[in-house]
Amino acid sequence: MTAKAHAYLDYNATTPVLEEVVLAVTAALGNFGNPSSVHGPGRHARAAVEEAREAIAALVDAPAQRVIFTSGGTEANALAMRGLAAAAGCSGVLASATEHPSIMAHVAEQDRIAVDRNGIVDLDALERALKQRAAPVLVAVMFANNETGVLQPVAEAVALARKYGALIHCDAVQALGKTVLSMRTLGLDSVSLSAHKFGGVKGAGVLALRGGVEIAADMLGGGQEHRRRAGTENVSGIVGMGAAARCAERLLVDAPRVLDLRDELEAAVESEAPQARIFGRDKPRLGNTSCILLPGVSSETQVMRLDLAGVAVSAGSACSSGRIAPSHVLLAMGVAPNEAKSAIRVSLGWETTRADISRFLEVWLPLAAKFRDS
Ligand code: PLP
Repeated sequence: MTAKAHAYLDYNATTPVLEEVVLAVTAALGNFGNPSSVHGPGRHARAAVEEAREAIAALVDAPAQRVIFTSGGTEANALAMRGLAAAAGCSGVLASATEHPSIMAHVAEQDRIAVDRNGIVDLDALERALKQRAAPVLVAVMFANNETGVLQPVAEAVALARKYGALIHCDAVQALGKTVLSMRTLGLDSVSLSAHKFGGVKGAGVLALRGGVEIAADMLGGGQEHRRRAGTENVSGIVGMGAAARCAERLLVDAPRVLDLRDELEAAVESEAPQARIFGRDKPRLGNTSCILLPGVSSETQVMRLDLAGVAVSAGSACSSGRIAPSHVLLAMGVAPNEAKSAIRVSLGWETTRADISRFLEVWLPLAAKFRDS
């Protein structure tokens, strides 16, 4: 069954590719020059890459010459965690405990900052950790959590970082197309983005740097991206990301409709399956995301039953799918390991319809009722 035939409710894993992106990518595939070549075809490809850079910079309010193209969010995060910390001579890295695994992989256990039961980073704990470390350190606080949609107090974290002479990186992979993000207003040192989370194609991402902030390149052996990331650029993916950036405003206009659908889904879950728990229910959250725990029914069972009925959702983070281990995000929020294995993530987007929500409820509510009665 194709993604199109499904009621696709897994936008936080990846989104459909926007029509404008398909057109832009197709055109870029025909324009096969290497952007580093000085001849006409090369210059043509270079111009397309630079146009995309401008569009992405404008979308997140970052200086265009400081937008570095990468292979996606994971590489952008790795570049920030290693390259930013190295260039600034950081003594260590602190990160909230619910960051994406591509951040967590770079953070030692004792450097993970606790979150509350809603997954919001404990700013007092962050301040205590900053006081204990020799400046500068690098702090990583994500914009919105990929599993729960819960928003972090990024502005407050930036203020703390400034107070203690730290640098601050924000994984904003889940933000675009769902909310407004201004890197300049927030005062962030770096931001990571991923094309396939807002209508682009997989394999293109960005690390955007604030003016004056430098990084040590991770990928060496070429002068691309102003020597910050060696390797011939993924021109078609980058052009597609630029096209998606130009559509982001339209996605934002649609966001209230998506929020209404998400709220309808949650209202039905709460009234028909009161034993279920919705994470971050009353906290600032992305309007497209719902993380639901159904006690006594494993995530796998829920995901498989829904899939058989043509509804696509994921068990926690799709990046960790295939792994039975409970989500580190829910564990950090104080959910017991056996309970955390019963959570699913439902995430909506611009192609989601009321019929998709009904289809989800038609399968999930009887499942909830069956296990409640058994
Ligand atoms: N950061 C967050 C918050 C994500 O949700 C993801 C992917 O799910 C990533 C980073 C990794 O992005 P990519 O798939 O482009 O490597």
